[in-house]
Amino acid sequence: MKCQVIVDMLERLAPKRLAEEWDNPGLLVGSFRQEVRKVYVCLDVSLPAAEEAIACGADMIVAHHPMIFKGIRQVRTDLYDGRLLQLLLSHNIAVYAAHTNLDIAQGGVNDVLAAAVGLERVEGFAVTDEASGACIGRIGYLPEAKALEKFVQQVKEGLQADCVRFVRGNDRMVRKVALCSGAGAEFIGKAAFKGADVYLTGDVKYHDAQKAVQQEISLIDAGHFATEFPVVAVLADYLRQEAAALKKPLEVVTDTVSADFFEYV
Ligand SMILES: [Zn+2]
Repeated sequence: MKCQVIVDMLERLAPKRLAEEWDNPGLLVGSFRQEVRKVYVCLDVSLPAAEEAIACGADMIVAHHPMIFKGIRQVRTDLYDGRLLQLLLSHNIAVYAAHTNLDIAQGGVNDVLAAAVGLERVEGFAVTDEASGACIGRIGYLPEAKALEKFVQQVKEGLQADCVRFVRGNDRMVRKVALCSGAGAEFIGKAAFKGADVYLTGDVKYHDAQKAVQQEISLIDAGHFATEFPVVAVLADYLRQEAAALKKPLEVVTDTVSADFFEYV
């Protein structure tokens, strides 16, 4: 099918108008008119991911993080970004990114994260658009209150994370949980204000932890990668279902080479 048909599927799930103003989602490489028989879904368009996509015969990569963000000043094939572009263009591979629009969308990254850590009665957390009520992050409840350590363990297993750090900000049992996938430390204060017992995100720094303690909210840093990677499989399933509904042949595969950059000893 045409690349445009797949873009239409993706934008039904995560309309581009939902994206934050600074973001750069959409078709970043290739043409809406090119034929796509196989899609490769990943978080980041890295060289190993692009090589895997080529090796498995994909015509299009659908990624979460935009590989082109702040413009291009040169295409130097002796540098990483230029080599990546050369590789993609020379194999006629289109690249589409659904970033903050997929974070915000119903059924997107944050809903997938909320489901993976066992939340119920999930609602929007931080409003990004007053008119539509669109929200980034989610807030919800555990079916039963549990001790912080138990919930941290549940997060670790649910996200298949190697290491989950946490900060104890109160002695309460965990019932109400706010979360934001990726780098969401900016919303610690909002999570505390909304009465969450715990705030779950990634990319937490020392002074973020300090702020959580001061505001008496517990904080879980499950990592940028682990909080976002679960969406890859969900997005792949979504594309398979959409293609099946159109009765069109489309193969969809997922990234098997990427992992968190952080390792632990
Ligand atoms: Zn991210």
